[in-house]
Amino acid sequence: MYPSKFRYEAPQSLDELHSLLSQYGDEGKILAGGQSLVPMMKLRFAAPEVLIDINGIPGLAYHREDPDGTLHVGALCRHVALERSALLKSKQPLMAAAAPLIADPMVRSRGTMVGSVCHSDPQGDWASVLLALGGHMVALGPKGRRSIPAADFSLGPFQNALEPDEVAVEAVVPAPEGQRFGTYLKLERRVGDFATAGVALALELNGGLVVRAGIALTGVGASNILAAEAAQTLVGRPLTEDSIEEAAQLASAAAQPKSDHRGSVAFKRHVVATFVRRGLARGEAVAA
Ligand code: FAD
Repeated sequence: MYPSKFRYEAPQSLDELHSLLSQYGDEGKILAGGQSLVPMMKLRFAAPEVLIDINGIPGLAYHREDPDGTLHVGALCRHVALERSALLKSKQPLMAAAAPLIADPMVRSRGTMVGSVCHSDPQGDWASVLLALGGHMVALGPKGRRSIPAADFSLGPFQNALEPDEVAVEAVVPAPEGQRFGTYLKLERRVGDFATAGVALALELNGGLVVRAGIALTGVGASNILAAEAAQTLVGRPLTEDSIEEAAQLASAAAQPKSDHRGSVAFKRHVVATFVRRGLARGEAVAA
């Protein structure tokens, strides 16, 4: 199918982008990798009057770490750059595990992490990763920059907390407080599919104890779900069979799946509990 007629703008700077966003308001849509927006336009689920392509704006394709360990991922950093990143492989095990599980190589070569979080698809994997890591998005608008915690960013399916005249310039992950462990587990019907269920696990360990934990769920609710109680039960304790089982049960209870072609409610809850057990058992091995 062909998309509805639209006007195309390609700003070459953030200043130019802002004047276009102010001019067009709700009628304009930002185009980053186009891997979610373009299919939606072709299916006519989205029909923006103006497409504002940010790919010509320099300086947004980075991912980098500050000296204190804070990680920044720019708005034009593609999935593939994160998949191949030596920095993530050595410092960010959860992100390194998630990146190769996004879609397929073609989508990963164009799509962006920031675009994925902005898209607010409950089956998007990066939003769970950012939630589990306690990260935030940085929005830039006419009034300047503001940080939006990942937990407040999605307002529901395909809705986010950005104002019409704001662009998300980066995703930020805070520096760790201890030894970092993390993984992403995803059940997909075939390679490249969206998650039947996904679990993002992020732990920080100090002296054998969990000092920070994040657990977030993909594809089992109307938004990505932060399983805060499940994570909290791990904090201040060593990882043991008992604490892992408690977290698995609490995470499964936090899921709000619907029965569909990907599986029943009971099956998806079972997958969540199994993934939490499996992922944390790997963390137990790291902590030992
Ligand atoms: P775009 O498509 O360009 O934009 C998506 C939305 O975000 C639009 O509303 C756009 O206006 C907005 N937006 C983008 N960037 C910004 C910004 N900087 N500021 C403000 N708003 C912005 N995703 C997964 O997580 N897991 C999968 O398994 C998966 N499988 C896929 C399979 C296929 C076949 C396809 C086509 C896509 C799949 N995706 C999957 C989606 C893919 O990851 C997209 O790349 C991602 O969701 C959106 O990133 P994008 O850069 O392509 O954004």
